[in-house]
Amino acid sequence: MGSQEVSTVDWQGKHVTVAGLGVSGIPAARALHERGALVTVVNDGDDERARAQAAELEALGITVRLGDGATLPPSTELVVTAPGWQPDKPLFVAAAEAGVPVWGDVELAWRLRGDNGRKAAPWLAVTGTNGKTTTVRMLASILEAAGLRTAAVGNIGVSLLDAVLGETEYDVLAVELSSYQLHWAPSLRAHSAAVLNLAPDHLDWHGSMEAYAADKGRVYEGNTVACVYNVADPATEDLVREADVEEGCRAIGFTLGAPGPSQLGVVDGILVDRAFVANRQKQAQELAEVTDVTPPAPHNIANALAAAALARAFGVEPAAVRDGLRAFRPDAHRIEHVADIGEVAYVDDSKATNTHATEASLAAYDSIVWIAGGLAKGATFDDLVIGAAKRLRGVVLMGADRALIHEALTRHAPEVPVVDLDRTDTGAMSEAVARAAELARPGDTVLLAPACASMDMFTNYNKRGEAFADAVRARADESA
Ligand code: ADP
Repeated sequence: MGSQEVSTVDWQGKHVTVAGLGVSGIPAARALHERGALVTVVNDGDDERARAQAAELEALGITVRLGDGATLPPSTELVVTAPGWQPDKPLFVAAAEAGVPVWGDVELAWRLRGDNGRKAAPWLAVTGTNGKTTTVRMLASILEAAGLRTAAVGNIGVSLLDAVLGETEYDVLAVELSSYQLHWAPSLRAHSAAVLNLAPDHLDWHGSMEAYAADKGRVYEGNTVACVYNVADPATEDLVREADVEEGCRAIGFTLGAPGPSQLGVVDGILVDRAFVANRQKQAQELAEVTDVTPPAPHNIANALAAAALARAFGVEPAAVRDGLRAFRPDAHRIEHVADIGEVAYVDDSKATNTHATEASLAAYDSIVWIAGGLAKGATFDDLVIGAAKRLRGVVLMGADRALIHEALTRHAPEVPVVDLDRTDTGAMSEAVARAAELARPGDTVLLAPACASMDMFTNYNKRGEAFADAVRARADESA
């Protein structure tokens, strides 16, 4: 069977165990029940919310077992899991021993697409350690500019199952996939896919860097037209080489330098395509200008090139790449310019929750007062500090693991002034901004790029970014 064809499963009477009540578990249980499967939902938690959710499902005739997500119901023929459940959980060990397959939400969506009689839209998939959401949104913007019916879906917060089973018919989907989702998606076959970059992240979940990379690499399996990789990150090209793809599928690189044949890159401030042109040995096609991309930071140009490569693989014309990139605006808290106060720019990159993202963010500015700290998630900061030391005017640290960053600064940038804020209350961010303002000189950028998760002090990175923006705006109002 060709990889893009729809496979049909006879669900009637099939015993399916859905692991986890939640954003993916509930719609999965419903969809399977509607198709005649005998569904049991198992869930670790047994709180009030879980009981209310369970009651709704039970009213439909779905069995729900609360307070025990570890035991595999004996008759199970298939497990459908929430992507975040760790692979070493007893439920999965039991499934492996019993030879029962385990699918995640993405695998289920892949298998169910087209079974409602609607067209099964091909998927253009994006994964990587950083830049996924941005790239997928850029891609959707380009596809829209080309007049295609599309949506940005997946790990981005829009369920793939909803997209696949919903009322709307799509020509193509721009799909963000996390490493967890890929881990549980054995038969997914994208039209084309990109791995943007690979840096250590979520290693506690995957067990090792090798296992993490292997799960990311699954996105290339069975691609039909293009496997898009990052020339500057050879690990991504290795994954292409290791993938088993359809006959005729091409490896396409993206680079911030001049592109070779079968690559997209940048020449004199122009994004150019030397991959999807008639004579790639001699010709290059102009796609857009660097200034068409917001913000035009190097890592974001890389994201734009990856999005352009996937769109071009799908046959999109150059003008639509340009129009789509021009129309794109980044999501909040991703290198978001908040205000200029006294010739100092204040930029919110609260989404930089790991060192790889922060490295990209620090590389985008020449002279920086850096606000950082939070939960380090096992990261080390030496390489980050070594790379950025020359561009640091000063540093303001806060959060639970700030000492780790402080130690790296002491080792590698002892001349850079550091303010260490020993407080985690809600006023901490406005003090951080005030201290950063004292350190900044005209022309500098005060950059919140924490390199850490936010949960020690804030509900999430959004709240952290909002606290920063509020503090900056309050200062702007005062100085106005
Ligand atoms: P993801 O969906 O992979 O988390 P986002 O697009 O939301 O990615 O960006 C997350 C963070 O990563 C942002 O703070 C941004 O500064 C940084 N970032 C974005 N693109 C890249 C890239 N190509 N390389 C490194 N860091 C990046």
